Amino acid sequence: MKLSSTAVRCAGIAGVLMGMMVVAGCETYPWQEQAKAPAFKPIDPAAQTAEMKRGVNVLSEDPGWKDPAKARFTPAHFKIIRDAGFSTVRIVMTPFASIDDSGRLDPAWLAHLDVMVKAALDDGLTVILDEHDYELCGKDVVVCRTKLNAFWSIAAPHFKDAPNRLVFEMLNEPHEALTAELWNTQLIETLAIMRASNPTRNVIIGPGNWNGLEALPKLVLPADDRHIIVAFHYYHPMEFTHQGAPWVPQYKQLGVTWGSEADYALLDKELDIVKAWSQAQNRPMTLDEFGAYETGAMADRVRWTNAVTRAAEARGFPWAYWQFDKDFIVYDIDKGAWVEPILHALIPLVQTSDTTH
Ligand code: BGC
Repeated sequence: MKLSSTAVRCAGIAGVLMGMMVVAGCETYPWQEQAKAPAFKPIDPAAQTAEMKRGVNVLSEDPGWKDPAKARFTPAHFKIIRDAGFSTVRIVMTPFASIDDSGRLDPAWLAHLDVMVKAALDDGLTVILDEHDYELCGKDVVVCRTKLNAFWSIAAPHFKDAPNRLVFEMLNEPHEALTAELWNTQLIETLAIMRASNPTRNVIIGPGNWNGLEALPKLVLPADDRHIIVAFHYYHPMEFTHQGAPWVPQYKQLGVTWGSEADYALLDKELDIVKAWSQAQNRPMTLDEFGAYETGAMADRVRWTNAVTRAAEARGFPWAYWQFDKDFIVYDIDKGAWVEPILHALIPLVQTSDTTH
């Protein structure tokens, strides 16, 4: 019998735990051992987005990727997320640094991902696997192509039998060197790699220009692939959401407020543009990043976060807030407590008819 690397790892675990439990079917991936996790069944992407509802980005730059002993985010956080009313997590992964020159992905990195995916699925969450090496991809399209294809040629078959609540997101925010035109070529190539093992799993693909809605008209998707969900990100206006953020010095002006009638009107107009594109193309959407950085006034951040979230829901877009930990936080891992104003801007304490879908 050909043993997968997981099977080898399971054999090790079985040895350690011998007599304590029966390790049946250990040649399968860990999450498949759970009765709760059914085998993969195709799901229409519109039905999938209807289930995704409210999400949050997790694990971005968490130290646990390099050393699980140093992790800030632990599997127990998925239950906290679920109990707060979220139904989706977007796992932000940067595997490129863990892929060697021969295209081999560090098994320890993949094992950490397995632990997280299993825990999130067990807690009933939809899990988006977001390939987030967008910074390198925006600088060097040649290296990006090699690493992106190497990653999905390992990750896609690895997860091929996971339940349909696991969704692949090909690449976060293509931009700069990876122009909208080059991205259209790259996405066809990478999608073929994913489809070899996952012919009908829903794949999230966003437009160029940082997944900005302005770039939607340039996005060319294969017309015959009907298992695609289109992502867009919303941080408008940048002067407000990124005021004082060190990585965008052009927005260093502090004290920018949000909440005028014109602000609300622009938000509605822009999300209507997304909705119109989605309907014309018959592609379901997800708003899988939005947030306002901590340097803005909390009252304005709450107003903006609530407005964006409700505007997305009113148009039937699931969303995923940026982000759980690190910055823009909705949860304070050090204190073990939610940042209540942001949490309740996302998930209001009192539900109104237009906040559920
Ligand atoms: C990036 C983060 C950044 C956020 C908002 C994300 O896609 O990965 O580093 O903080 O966008 O700018």
